[in-house]
Amino acid sequence: MKKQFKAESKKLLDMMINSIYTNKDIFLRELISNASDAMDKLYFKSLTDKTIKIDKNQLKIRIETDKENRTIRIIDNGCGMTKEELENNLGTIAQSGSLTFKEENKDQTDVNIIGQFGVGFYSAFMVSKKVEVVSKKYNEEKAYVWKSSGVDGYTIDEVEEKNTGTAITLYLKEDTEDINYSDYLDEYRIRSIIKKYSDYITYPIIMEVTNRVLKEGSDSEYEDKLEDETLNSQIPLWKKNKNEITEEEYNNFYQDKFYDYEKPLKVIHTNVEGQCSYNSILYIPSHAPYDFYTKEYEKGLQLYTNGVLIMEKCSDLLPDYFSFVRGIVDTQDLPLNISRETLQQDKNLKIIAKSIENKIKNELTNMLKNNFEDYKKFFSTFGTQIKFGIYNNYGMDKEKLKDLVLFYSSNKKEFITLNEYVDEMKEDQKNIYYASGETIEKIDNLPQVEQVKQKEYDILYLTDYVDEFTIQALMEYKEKKFMNVSSSELDLETKEEKEKTESKNKEYNDIFKVMKETLKNQVSEIEFTNRLKNHPVCLTTKGEISIEMEKVINAMPTDEKVKANLILEINENHEIANKLKDLYENNKEELEKYTKILYAQARLIEGLQIDNPTEISNLICEIMSK
Ligand code: ADP
Repeated sequence: MKKQFKAESKKLLDMMINSIYTNKDIFLRELISNASDAMDKLYFKSLTDKTIKIDKNQLKIRIETDKENRTIRIIDNGCGMTKEELENNLGTIAQSGSLTFKEENKDQTDVNIIGQFGVGFYSAFMVSKKVEVVSKKYNEEKAYVWKSSGVDGYTIDEVEEKNTGTAITLYLKEDTEDINYSDYLDEYRIRSIIKKYSDYITYPIIMEVTNRVLKEGSDSEYEDKLEDETLNSQIPLWKKNKNEITEEEYNNFYQDKFYDYEKPLKVIHTNVEGQCSYNSILYIPSHAPYDFYTKEYEKGLQLYTNGVLIMEKCSDLLPDYFSFVRGIVDTQDLPLNISRETLQQDKNLKIIAKSIENKIKNELTNMLKNNFEDYKKFFSTFGTQIKFGIYNNYGMDKEKLKDLVLFYSSNKKEFITLNEYVDEMKEDQKNIYYASGETIEKIDNLPQVEQVKQKEYDILYLTDYVDEFTIQALMEYKEKKFMNVSSSELDLETKEEKEKTESKNKEYNDIFKVMKETLKNQVSEIEFTNRLKNHPVCLTTKGEISIEMEKVINAMPTDEKVKANLILEINENHEIANKLKDLYENNKEELEKYTKILYAQARLIEGLQIDNPTEISNLICEIMSK
């Protein structure tokens, strides 16, 4: 009975079949990579399950071609699949993210994207009109065959097979004017594709090839002889000499292993000999994986001991703030059958993790110094993670990370480091000033930045939700304190200015008292300051919690709710100050209305909600109509 593919799979399959993508060669890479994974799984399982008896040296991938019937067969003796697994694995796409990506980029399906993606098993349909998968799971009696000729569905039937593992037979498409599918039956073609994409696969990839050899008993006559030949060097990329590896090889390896359709931003290849030896290839991706900022994202590096994969994602090898790094680590200094629990305690693993952390940090520091454009790209993608790292764990790691963060500078109109900020501070400048808001433009228009700007002090504009928490965790940088331009402690006035404001405040004491009562203590203070230059009002805060922090904390899905301690500041030199006095003396009722409007305006400037929009709107219209 024919079964239907899941809708998503059908779409992907359809794209594979109809793609005119030129690099169809990668189908072989994908199938070999699956075969290799299947053998890893079996071997790994056998370490703990004693009913599985295998000899590691017997694990191989075989490639057979049949020119007459135009088929290629890829055979492995890995873990195999049950009937259900055939159904689930080959009828559905595992990575929904990959399809989302392709959907978004539909118009580009024919360019490089397909080939660069970890498209997996379905890529077989780029070159085949029919695919058959015979599979027998280890420790199972029965074997099954999965057959499909494309989007119209597939069948699964029981089949006789004595060997454990999987054999995939591809029935090649007919040759067309543009594409000679028959080329894939050619020994040299297969050999070169494998050399290019699958050389590092740790299991031998074997093909029967025709060699011209001396005839037996003769020293001059030759004959053709069929012989098994291993096509791949089996030296993992990370064990090769750095200067023998091309950029393309690094990138292919990355895209193949970590299913990325884009090249990585940076490769870090290290061979460490010492107290604890390891080889590693680490990658900094050029963009965040689709699930990076979700709970589903798992950090970790692939861990090998002596070339054998023992853990797909070893999270202990990466600190959270570097969770975006992908890569592999291979060491001889860990036992093969180590469990997750004992691994965590392992001294050598800790040494390796520390060393890896340093490598990543050094690499980022170098990028920051020598390739700022790349660093900005990196920081705009993963900077939040670093900033989060500063404030996490009670600031335990802040010293390590503080020189990796960038903030937008109002003077430079560019991202800068804290070090650059401090280096360029004005002589009389005491603090590192910052302002927070939703966007650079919005912050730039805040009334509170005026006074600091007038002094020509640089202001860091914070637009990321973690920024202020990061700043608070840092507390200071090179002994310079951070100061929010909206803080009541800003203190930028001269002695004379202060005295003037103070006396003006005294004069208005009773007026402000009435106004505060009108606002029913929504603000703790109403006062004149010297902060405002052209704008009539603004809100500032007293204490640790700023308005932006209040927004962030209250948006979190916890019960914890906080309230910033608000101060309504009024510009003493603005016409509105006189108006308030006039109303206080002649029309108290009107003063109440003005107060409400002023407060609402100050909230709106901060991007805060107002509780009574209808009332405010009516009040404004009432005043407008006068
Ligand atoms: P991916 O390899 O990215 O998971 P594929 O479409 O290539 O996606 O394969 C889907 C699943 O089918 C694999 O995850 C694996 O479980 C199974 N599979 C594919 N090829 C084999 C094989 N040769 N032996 C065992 N299982 C396989």
